[in-house]
Amino acid sequence: MSLFRCPVCFAPLERGERAYTCPNGHSYDISKEGYVHLLPANQKHSKAPGDDKAMVAARNRFLSAGYYAPLRQTLEELALRYTAPGCAVLDSGCGEGWYTAGVAQALRAAGRSPRVAGIDISKFALRWAARRDRETEFAVGSAYHLPAADGCADLLINCFSPLAAAEFRRVLVPSGVFLYVVPAPRHLWEMKEVLYDRPYPNPEEEIPYEGFEPLEVVPVESVLHIGDPEDLWALFQMTPYCWKTPKTGVERLQALPGLDVTAGFRIHVFRKK
Ligand SMILES: [Zn+2]
Repeated sequence: MSLFRCPVCFAPLERGERAYTCPNGHSYDISKEGYVHLLPANQKHSKAPGDDKAMVAARNRFLSAGYYAPLRQTLEELALRYTAPGCAVLDSGCGEGWYTAGVAQALRAAGRSPRVAGIDISKFALRWAARRDRETEFAVGSAYHLPAADGCADLLINCFSPLAAAEFRRVLVPSGVFLYVVPAPRHLWEMKEVLYDRPYPNPEEEIPYEGFEPLEVVPVESVLHIGDPEDLWALFQMTPYCWKTPKTGVERLQALPGLDVTAGFRIHVFRKK
């Protein structure tokens, strides 16, 4: 059974060999990589919304090299802690599906027989995601209009992507759990020291969301030993600094053979009230 719903009439979708179909005759082709396009034209604000090909390739290179393995492992542990057999998991803003696939595989390995789905607005990201994990469903869609039914998910994951709290509440079951990953104050600090004359730490956020009860905040800290300038450049392209760094800072970074960088995350765990 699919976690997706028809973006036109909101009826449940059924996954066939080549397409998803709804009982009202709407049909959505499955791409050759295995994802489905569920973003209606009126939610599409450009020809190819979301992260572009180059950005996605950089992030895929960096994540696939395993630098963020401690974060993925912690997400896997939390998914195991907060779900039961037969659970449904939705990853909103799943990107290349690197975390999605990790969580799905961990749940399968533990005998949970999960149904897992990832949604992202970038089709370039989903091309990687769908090839990475064939058992997980992936759809092009908006976090603000998730193509998923009310109360379909036991666990919702949001890892560095747009927050749509009301929509997340809609798709979660009562008492469903929401994992929200944000950068810690000193995340990528050493890179910021190279890029900026006066770097600032990220603000430590208190995040109260209406309709959610905070359960815990789980820190994940590690030091990345980046010895390949191409990996360092890929990391830079994944960050928001990519858009707002002065040229001199970028040149300083490009001159480095590698860098040891702090990676720090906070996983905020909420339960739907
Ligand atoms: Zn329909």
